[in-house]
Amino acid sequence: MTKTTTKYKRAKNRSKARRPKRAGANRSWNLAIAGVVIVGVVLVVVSSRSYKSAAEVSPKIGEHWHGYLGVNVCGTWLPDAPAFEEQSDSPTVRAGIHSHGDGLMHTHPYSSSEAGRNATTGRFLEEGGWELSETSMTLWDGTTHENGDTCTIKGKKQKAVVQWATGFPGKPWSGEARSGNPGSYKFDDNEIIAVYFLPKGSKLPKPPGAEDSLANITDVDGANLGTTGVPGTTGASGTSGATGNDPTSGATGASGATATPSTKRGSEIVGEMNVSWYPAALAV
Ligand SMILES: [Zn+2]
Ligand SMILES: [Zn+2]
Repeated sequence: MTKTTTKYKRAKNRSKARRPKRAGANRSWNLAIAGVVIVGVVLVVVSSRSYKSAAEVSPKIGEHWHGYLGVNVCGTWLPDAPAFEEQSDSPTVRAGIHSHGDGLMHTHPYSSSEAGRNATTGRFLEEGGWELSETSMTLWDGTTHENGDTCTIKGKKQKAVVQWATGFPGKPWSGEARSGNPGSYKFDDNEIIAVYFLPKGSKLPKPPGAEDSLANITDVDGANLGTTGVPGTTGASGTSGATGNDPTSGATGASGATATPSTKRGSEIVGEMNVSWYPAALAV
């Protein structure tokens, strides 16, 4: 009798002791399931959104965007990027993101590799034969600046790092350092991108030429493109490019003809992106 009671009590005590643990385990199990469900929903939303926008992300082939790129090395603004219209590594291929030497990243993509999400600051620089990452930059001053290299500013030697900030003309310049790789940045139409090699904590001023350059874009109607001997770009420019079917852009058959296959290529690329998204997101 005594034995049984004791056994019973012991069992009861044990189960009492276990119960809160179980409840806790259940709770975290529920949370885990909820987490999985939320991650799943987010994935579906994100992937469907990126899939949908895949072929629709601007700048599309036929559109014409402009971003301003200012570069400040150790407190001195570099001159505007030199003009280039062909890809540095394949000089017979036109660069859809190129420079007319006016500080602007002229963006009228010819292929999906330079359209939509691929129309980044880094793509512009790559097509021009330069390099930029969050740790190093090799631009048109012909010097590689790596994080930790020294800047002499007002006679003072200081270690500097690659930093960057963005803004829009006519709006207050925040000068806030942005995180991540400035080369991967997909800039917006009319956006100002400033890249600096400066000591951490430095003021990140607005590039002095940005407002002027963006206010005086000379090729939006395609008038200037003709004179530069790039006939294909005419249809790609701004508003007429957007209409696509505009018969006046017939002369630019090149851009019209490539529109369909390029779009397909774009969605294929995003399809691949989505596949790699899953394991990455689940790992988090
Ligand atoms: Zn342009
Ligand atoms: Zn151009």
